[in-house]
Amino acid sequence: MSYSYLSHLECPQCGEQYEAGAVQQLCVCGSPLLVRYKLEELKEAWSKAELSGRKADLWRYHELLPVSDEGNVVTLGEGMTPLLELPRLGADYGIARLMMKDESLVPSGSFKARGAAVGISKAKELGVAKLAMPTNGNAGAAWALYAARAGIEATIVMPQDAPKITRSEVALAGARLYLVNGLISDAGKIVAREVADKGLYDASTLKEPYRIEGKKTMGLEIAEQLGWEMPDVILYPTGGGVGLIGIYKALQELKEIGWVQGRLPRLVAVQADGCAPIVKAWEEKAERSEFWPDSATAAFGINVPKALGDFLVLKAVYETDGAAVAVSDAEMSAEQAKLARLEGSFICPEGAAAFAAARKLAERGWIKPHECVVVLNTGAGIKYPDSVQVEAPLLEPGEFI
Ligand SMILES: *Cc1c(COP(=O)(O)O)cnc(C)c1O
Ligand SMILES: [Zn+2]
Repeated sequence: MSYSYLSHLECPQCGEQYEAGAVQQLCVCGSPLLVRYKLEELKEAWSKAELSGRKADLWRYHELLPVSDEGNVVTLGEGMTPLLELPRLGADYGIARLMMKDESLVPSGSFKARGAAVGISKAKELGVAKLAMPTNGNAGAAWALYAARAGIEATIVMPQDAPKITRSEVALAGARLYLVNGLISDAGKIVAREVADKGLYDASTLKEPYRIEGKKTMGLEIAEQLGWEMPDVILYPTGGGVGLIGIYKALQELKEIGWVQGRLPRLVAVQADGCAPIVKAWEEKAERSEFWPDSATAAFGINVPKALGDFLVLKAVYETDGAAVAVSDAEMSAEQAKLARLEGSFICPEGAAAFAAARKLAERGWIKPHECVVVLNTGAGIKYPDSVQVEAPLLEPGEFI
């Protein structure tokens, strides 16, 4: 058996194929590339039983990941996060089986570590020495840390308003850190110039094909953790949409190798009222989104005014009879408190957005009471200390309550 069943890269827009053994970025047509595997061969060679003795991290699915030589794997132990039952919150929503895939437990405190682990490992395998990327914070932090572990030099450009902790993570990892007085789209333009001038590897969202593969493992894990059954609905806080594209890709691949059967879950892309280009496009039944001007939300990870892979996100939503829903920042805060009070979990604002959307969809009857619903909490609430305002009485020594 091979460590990986990687075959080639394929353009989902024009069908052009590329060799996976060399550095590839976008297709000549401008679309992101998707990784393809030898699924027919894998179907014959692989069985679920083989997973049983493997480590509880995302590399347990190495056959369906793009790294060919195990020696190139750069890992901090990411993956196999808990899929928690939320009975009290479920009762509050009127849903019998509500679950949280809790990504707050991955290294660097957000699910971005999955994309970074696989993206950096593959970059190492391809001989990349220097990379650059724009970020809203969490991706830059994860990529800087994994790059440090791989001995790759990283240049990271982030909005000056990005969560401060992510700035510290990038700086401490020894990456070249730049702040921009603007949005991630402005950071993207700076990186594009730097990449062109210096010949760096462009690790921007979807401009390299392997980040999706890392995020895809959330879908593989959800299926395995449910005993290879699929839930009815999966809700995901959507910025660039890589996680949603990845989960959809994972479930399709599992179907092709015969490990899951039946209907795919209805995928829900959740955004913030202040930045909802995918939701607007979905409401208009469009294939692509338009740039969302003056975007703003406290859920920084989903403040992406125009995603390169918007057509892939929308396709995943349409093809699974899913939906796209926007929620307000106030609804996120309220839901963040609900999670902590009812279930003891301090989730991130992006995750709270996805829960707020689940509440709305249950209220509207779009989610039925008997359905099995998985909500992605994409990061740790403790990475956003300013998302909660606290007022507590201050006692002087000797004073009592
Ligand atoms: C990046 C990020 C998202 C959005 O992820 P995409 O896959 O780019 O849509 C959601 N939540 C958090 C915490 C993030 O850091
Ligand atoms: Zn193409």
